[in-house]
Amino acid sequence: MVEVRAVRKSFGPLDVLKGVDLRVAAGEVTVVIGPSGSGKSTLLRTLNHLEKVDSGTVAVDGTLIGYRRSGDKLYELREREILRQRTHIGFVFQDFHLFPHLTVVENVTEAPVAALGRSRKDATATALALLERVGLAGKADAYPRQLSGGQQQRVAIARALALEPKLLLFDEPTSALDPELVGEVLDVIKDLAARGTTMIIVTHEIGFAREVADTVVFMDDGRIVEQGPPAQVLDAPREARTRAFLSKVL
Ligand code: ATP
Ligand code: MG
Repeated sequence: MVEVRAVRKSFGPLDVLKGVDLRVAAGEVTVVIGPSGSGKSTLLRTLNHLEKVDSGTVAVDGTLIGYRRSGDKLYELREREILRQRTHIGFVFQDFHLFPHLTVVENVTEAPVAALGRSRKDATATALALLERVGLAGKADAYPRQLSGGQQQRVAIARALALEPKLLLFDEPTSALDPELVGEVLDVIKDLAARGTTMIIVTHEIGFAREVADTVVFMDDGRIVEQGPPAQVLDAPREARTRAFLSKVL
């Protein structure tokens, strides 16, 4: 489903991704952990071309992201085509990124109507079903500022799901939340995992990673240092750097 090959990315003199290879099978949950600055967010952002790679390729469901191949050359896609690719890849940010001037249900229907050309009536029916699924059936007409952080993040998840993405990306979805609100968001993500949603989740919640991940990826200094099932990477890490990181966060 996801195939990242030899991806490199620098910001000026700073090499942030130093050759990353990653494969994620359909229906699997991959959790990415690692120290601050190791390149986790940058990697996630390259997956939908929010960040342009310097070299290497990203493919989702067999489609090259951000580029088209012609012979042995790659040409960057136009903005419109990139936006269309992004409709298949949901992204949930740490700080929700809801539209403040739209109600909850309008936040969820905006993209299906604008990007997919759905009728407002159909999009609203879908949105209400999704809001119910994330436990927010009663909040359809509220504005984001009237919701708790945990509720806002659940709206953001419903909004991502409304586009029926092939892949869902989460960048620290609970780290802006008060501790007592973390569980309700993680429960929604666990439910998605149980339904076979393909997800890549960057998180510092190691307990959650153990519960939900098929594969845990440990990144350090722009590289994937170690990856495997949670029982291996989290409980019996092979690499000293993984052990050192876990001893700090566990
Ligand atoms: P954290 O756990 O703190 O979120 P991270 O692993 O997600 O860290 P990244 O956000 O990918 O790390 O950043 C990796 C490095 O790249 C950092 O040193 C960061 O300062 C730098 N960086 C990220 N984005 C940019 C940018 N747009 N311009 C310049 N430097 C950047
Ligand atoms: Mg980050």
